Amino acid sequence: MDTERVAVPAIGPDLAAACPSLAAGTTADAVAGAVPAFVAWPASTEEAAGLLRAAARAGLAVVPRGAGTGFGWGSPPSRCDLVVDLSSMDQVIEHGAGDLVVRVQAGLTIGALAAALAAAGQELALDVPAEATVGGVVATGTTGPRRLRYGSPRDLLLGLTVVRADGTIAHSGGKVVKNVAGYDIGKLFCGSHGTLGLITEATFRLHPRPGAVAWVTAEFFGASGAGASGAGASGAGDPGAGVAAASAAVAAAANSALVPSAVELDWPGGTPPSRRPLRVGVLLEGTPSGVAERAERMSELLTFAGGGPVSVSDAAPPRWGALPAGATVVRMSFWVSALDAVLAALLAAGESAGVRPAVTGAAGAGALYACLDPDTPDEDAARFVTALRERIAGLSPGAPRGSVAVLAGPPPVLAAAGAYRDVPGAALMRAVRDQFDPGRRMFPGRFNFAGGE
Ligand SMILES: Cc1cc2nc3c(=O)[nH]c(=O)nc-3n(C[C@H](O)[C@H](O)[C@H](O)COP(=O)(O)OP(=O)(O)OC[C@H]3O[C@@H](n4cnc5c(N)ncnc54)[C@H](O)[C@@H]3O)c2cc1C
Repeated sequence: MDTERVAVPAIGPDLAAACPSLAAGTTADAVAGAVPAFVAWPASTEEAAGLLRAAARAGLAVVPRGAGTGFGWGSPPSRCDLVVDLSSMDQVIEHGAGDLVVRVQAGLTIGALAAALAAAGQELALDVPAEATVGGVVATGTTGPRRLRYGSPRDLLLGLTVVRADGTIAHSGGKVVKNVAGYDIGKLFCGSHGTLGLITEATFRLHPRPGAVAWVTAEFFGASGAGASGAGASGAGDPGAGVAAASAAVAAAANSALVPSAVELDWPGGTPPSRRPLRVGVLLEGTPSGVAERAERMSELLTFAGGGPVSVSDAAPPRWGALPAGATVVRMSFWVSALDAVLAALLAAGESAGVRPAVTGAAGAGALYACLDPDTPDEDAARFVTALRERIAGLSPGAPRGSVAVLAGPPPVLAAAGAYRDVPGAALMRAVRDQFDPGRRMFPGRFNFAGGE
C-alpha cells in the first residue's frame, strides 16, 4: 500500500482556500493503515465541490468518510491522500411530513434522522446502525431485516446530490430533477463505496411507524440419519432435514399473504451443524388487531412447516438485525427459492474447510451472512470462501446462481480469496467508473475484482 505523503506544503493552501476546515491527517484518520496527508470537513455541497476541484488539480486520492463504522469492511485503499469527512453536513434540509419525504445532508446519522422523524410518527424503513451516516448507508447499500418489505437504500431513495471526482455537482430525482448524461445517479451510487464520487445530500421516501409489531419465531432441528438436498452429513446426525424444513418455512412465510416485513434466519456457529437449531424469525407490522391475527396465522404456518417451539412476542428476538460479527464476514445474495441449496453449500464448504460458520440474515429477501470466529486460521477461512463460491457457482441447473462477497476479513484472507470474484457486469462497472472518475482517484482499490481499482 502506498502511504507516502503527497507534496503537502504546495497543495495545502489550495485545499484550505476551498474548504477552510482542513487539518493534517493523523494515525486516528488512517484508513486500513493508510494515513492521509489531509482531512477536510466541508460544510456544504459547494464547499465539497471546491475541495474536490482542488484535489483534482493535485491528483490526490480521495476517501469519503461518514461515521467510519464500515472502514474495516471491504478492501483497503491503494492510495489515500485526502479524507473528506461529512460530519459537518448533518442537517435535515426539508421534511415534507404530508408527502412522506425527507431531504437531508449526507453526514446526518441514522439515529439523528430517526429522532427527527419520530416526532411525526414516521421512519426511514432501513434497519441500519444508528451511528452510521446517510451517505455511508447509501454508499454501502447496507440493509437489515426489513429489506424484505421495504427494499434496500436504492428502493427508498428519491434523489441524490453528488460531487464527482472533478468537482462537478450532479443531482438526480427528488426535489431537483435533473439526471446527468442519462445516468440514474441515485441507483449508480448505491453500493458504490465512495468510488464514483461524494454523496452530499439524499432525499428519501418515508413510511408511517407501525401501530403494533410482533415477532413470531420457530426453531428447526436436523434429524439423525435424515438427509435432504445433498447437505453433507456431519457424522453426528444429518442437519439436512432441518435445513430443508427451515428453507421451506422461510419461503412459505416470505411469500405468504400475511405480508411479513422481515423473515430472518439465525443459525449459530461453533457446534456441529446437527446440534444447532435453525431459528426462523418473522416480523409482522400493522394495526394491533391485524397484527395479533396475522401472528396467530403465522404461528400455524411455521408449526405446519415443522417448526417448534413457536413463540410470539412484541420484543425482538436476541441478535435481531445485529451487525454480522466475525473476523471474516461473507455475504451471499440469492433468490429465496435457492435458500435450501445455499445452506447445503454452506454446510459442505464449512465441512471441507474444517470451519463452522454462524449464519444470519434476511433469508426471506435472499441475503445471508456467514461469519467466522477470529480464531479461525486464515488458510481455513480462505478455503471456506473458495469452496463456497465453487459450490454456489455450481448450483444445480435451473437454480439461479447467487453471489458471494467477502465484506470483512483479515488481509491474508482478502488477498487469497478476494473480496469479489466473477462479478457479473464487472466490465460495465469499470466503464461507468471511468466515466465518473477517469483518474481512478476516488477510493482507489476499494473494488479489488480483476482490474477493479
Ligand atoms: C446488518 C448490517 C449489514 C451490513 N452490511 C454491510 C455491507 O453489506 N457492506 C458494507 O460495506 N458494510 C456493511 N455494514 C457495515 C456498514 O458499512 C456500516 O454499518 C454503515 O452502513 C456505514 O456507514 P458509515 O457512515 O459508518 O460509513 P463509513 O464507514 O464512513 O464508510 C463506508 C463506505 O462508504 C463510503 N462513504 C461514506 N460516506 C460517503 C459519502 N458521503 N459519499 C460517498 N461515499 C461515502 C466510504 O468511502 C466507505 O467506502 C453492515 C452493517 C450492518 C449492521
